[in-house]
Amino acid sequence: MSRSTGLVLLADQALHDTGDHPENSRRIPTVLDRLQGSDDWDRFQIVEPRAAGIEDIRRAHTKAHIDLVRSSAESAPSWIDGDTPVSKASYDVALKAAGAALSSVDAVVDPSESSPDSLFAMIRPPGHHATEGRPMGFCLFNNAAVAARYAVEHHGLDRVAILDWDVHHGNGTQDILWQDPSVLFISLHQWPLYPGTGWLEERGAGDGEGFTVNLPMPPSSGDREHSQAMIEVIEPILEAYDPQLLIVSAGQDGHAADQLADQLITAAGFNSLADRAAGFAAGRGIGLVALHEGGYNLATLPQLDHAILAGFGDFATDLSDPYSELGAIDVGWPERLEEIKRAQRPHWPV
Ligand SMILES: [Zn+2]
Repeated sequence: MSRSTGLVLLADQALHDTGDHPENSRRIPTVLDRLQGSDDWDRFQIVEPRAAGIEDIRRAHTKAHIDLVRSSAESAPSWIDGDTPVSKASYDVALKAAGAALSSVDAVVDPSESSPDSLFAMIRPPGHHATEGRPMGFCLFNNAAVAARYAVEHHGLDRVAILDWDVHHGNGTQDILWQDPSVLFISLHQWPLYPGTGWLEERGAGDGEGFTVNLPMPPSSGDREHSQAMIEVIEPILEAYDPQLLIVSAGQDGHAADQLADQLITAAGFNSLADRAAGFAAGRGIGLVALHEGGYNLATLPQLDHAILAGFGDFATDLSDPYSELGAIDVGWPERLEEIKRAQRPHWPV
């Protein structure tokens, strides 16, 4: 059975103006140029986003956090930390980015005949580093956590899963959901790397113990390692958890040509991750929402996002990638995979 997919487009994203920063306003338009110029454009259903309200953001962030983002934008141009610039419109754009995540959830959780099986929200600023009380690492509001909490509190879901394949650890998402068993957080990330968290023994606490799953991948891990992690660890955990919604924090900065990390994932690797995630969701009859996170090489990001949409929608696309030849480096993966499984066995059938 074919899988339908679509896009949520954020018209105002460029007003979050970060200049020549790696996380800049050219990223999403560069992706859309490729998609609109391809024969696949007509496949994509386009969903209109709405803005999030303060009450939506408050499900994941403190009032002080929201006030800091607002006041930083009011005094823009300014920096929230050494990595995170804001412009005059950044607060409003961040509310709209989170709102696009909520619109995506609405569309796939309450499916009408016109709703696609999955949606990829082409949003920025990204979100997964923003903790409960601190915007950081290019991120203002944690779009994934805001969306997950909304799915639980507004739509009444009991179990939401977030799969974060951005190359950096989703420390903010982990922080917000640390004690929350209603959201399973699974992160694939290079370790060690910014922000320094995400070791395999970080597994949540209190009622949330076991519902944070970290897969710290050795540097130079590629398609083979990520695929094995997906099949041998992530999918068995997802099967056991039985989520009613799957949210993907989709960062493509693990690609071999991305300047912010050292992983060797290729276009085919991202296509495979997306295909497996969407295949899982379709097999369960649940919706999938992907939220754009990292991915900073403008020469390669468009093809990677296209490859992900092809995986979601189960159609063919050009996966040729000059970096494919780099694969199969010995990074100590079999040993790490065993360590990851050992860390998860108290909680999950891996
Ligand atoms: Zn990243």
